[in-house]
Amino acid sequence: MPHANGLPTVVALATGGTIAGQGSAGKATNYRPGQIDVNTLLQLAAPDFDLANLRGEQVCNVNSDDITSEHWTELARAINRLAADPDIDGFVVTHGTDTLEETAYFLNLTVKTDKPVIITGAMRPATATSADGPMNLRQSIALAGNPLARGKGVLVVFSDGIFGGRDVRKISTIQTDAFSANDFGCMGYMVDGVPHIFNAPVKPHTLATEFDVEGLSTLPSVAVAYFAVDADPAVLRFHVDRGARGLVIAGAGAGCYSTPWNNAIVELEETGIPVVRASRIGAGLITHDDFYRGNLIDGSDLPPQKAAVLLRLALTRTSSRTEIQRMFDTY
Ligand code: ASP
Repeated sequence: MPHANGLPTVVALATGGTIAGQGSAGKATNYRPGQIDVNTLLQLAAPDFDLANLRGEQVCNVNSDDITSEHWTELARAINRLAADPDIDGFVVTHGTDTLEETAYFLNLTVKTDKPVIITGAMRPATATSADGPMNLRQSIALAGNPLARGKGVLVVFSDGIFGGRDVRKISTIQTDAFSANDFGCMGYMVDGVPHIFNAPVKPHTLATEFDVEGLSTLPSVAVAYFAVDADPAVLRFHVDRGARGLVIAGAGAGCYSTPWNNAIVELEETGIPVVRASRIGAGLITHDDFYRGNLIDGSDLPPQKAAVLLRLALTRTSSRTEIQRMFDTY
């Protein structure tokens, strides 16, 4: 809804990352993420306040490798609370790129609003030559204030692309064009603050999910175990003994692993711990395979890190294998 000055109102929730990083002038590496505060970020991105009425909230200021499920639930609850204010039109979350895709999927499943929620970050710190953060944030503010972004779930804007929060993945350790949705493509482009959207997510999100973070401050712990040639299956029992309530296997190919791993997973069946088969490949799908036995769930197309997000949320609702499989088939 445009306000007295004709502009939408957008709240920026900052969490840190490279977009808020500082280092040696001009350099793109060896900087410290999470240094600059939210108001400075907004000033760099929209110095004339020409895109929206802006409000900044500092949720935290950390490297995104230090994001925890406490941050996630706090962020989702903050968005849910602010979304009830009719004067607020949309949200931008600034975030480190390393775990941005996990936060995007988590929020996509837990925020209870159809108002735009856009996540962005940067590959170069604010002090680098040609820092990408200010433009990514500028495009995100414009999208957050645009009704075209409503009801499309949590979106990620990066390097002029618009991506669905469920499908987006980080695909480069250094390039500024660091995000992609692989086989599913980007949803559209941002060109000088104008969204051009060509498709929309079909999987349920935001208002249409069964997940609710209102009573939660953290999530059940789940471990991701990476399979490789000669990988020691003892790591699986180790995680369970350390308190993991679920396991995600980053398997080879279509969620595959060795006979010793298969045997170790069968031995864990008595614990009732769900084990999700995912893949280290990054594209394609995991379906049922009779060779693998145990308390198994097929991980669909989710990469291990996103399968872990869904498994953690699933465990807040149920421990039934059938129910968890339904959630993996649904979300
Ligand atoms: N390590 C940084 C972070 O995720 C990387 C980045 O933001 O690009 O916070």
